[in-house]
Amino acid sequence: MNRAYIKDKKRVVIKIGSSSITHQETGRPSLSRIEKLVRVLTDIANSGREVILVSSGAIAVGRNQIGLKGKPDTNALKQACAAIGQASLMTVYQRLFAEYGMKVAQVLLTKNTMINDKSRRNARNTFAELLKLGVIPIVNENDTVATDEIEFGDNDTLSAIVAGLVGADLLILLSDIEGLYTDNPRLNPDAKFIDTVEYIDDSIIAMGKGEGSDVGTGGMATKISAARIANDSGADMVIAGSGDLDVINRILAGEQVGTLFLAHKNDNFHLINYLSGGCSD
Ligand code: GLU
Repeated sequence: MNRAYIKDKKRVVIKIGSSSITHQETGRPSLSRIEKLVRVLTDIANSGREVILVSSGAIAVGRNQIGLKGKPDTNALKQACAAIGQASLMTVYQRLFAEYGMKVAQVLLTKNTMINDKSRRNARNTFAELLKLGVIPIVNENDTVATDEIEFGDNDTLSAIVAGLVGADLLILLSDIEGLYTDNPRLNPDAKFIDTVEYIDDSIIAMGKGEGSDVGTGGMATKISAARIANDSGADMVIAGSGDLDVINRILAGEQVGTLFLAHKNDNFHLINYLSGGCSD
């Protein structure tokens, strides 16, 4: 379908995963990729759009800083890695954004923040104020306090919740795969690329089941469930490959890249119902 209307999107949430901003071999931050991301996002903000970045990478960067090989094996260690890595990641972002004259803010959220009416309202007001000030909020889960039972766990879901909270009109999920396929393209050469999803039905959900369709925490299944949250809250969502970060500009120019999931505002969908146990539809 013609995507020219995407040029008019004003409030955009962009999610980038750990593997897209760190070096695979060493786990250290990839400064050239972060630099490119920062330049593209600043330019989008300079063009008059409101930008919110949801960035993973805290745990990956923290692990690397303390020289940990492999994933942290206890919750406390994982949370310590997140505390170390989040500070360092923000330092890098802040420094690079400053080079382009852009101010950023750190927003760390938990599921509890979003379930509790007062703190959810506070978070929404803070986002509104930051955007009014022309600042780019950089969001992550507050991994140092979120435990298994109450965590979002993956930033695909978190970014969709943020898109709903701030009333974004577009969510871009950057992934190591260019979009949705009928099957896992790494295992099935006949898998076909899906350009547009008008409605997420069982056949679409089944496409996300393929093991290993994505190496991030989320995987394709969580991306589809993120699309559902974003679409139900009135935001379009695009899943696109993060290989060349100019893809963000191409999406916003209305080019045919990635898979577009169309918004269909669902009046029966309430973020709060979703958060406190299952989808409301
Ligand atoms: N919040 C985690 C981190 O920053 C990442 C979650 C995810 O990979 O989606 O390390």
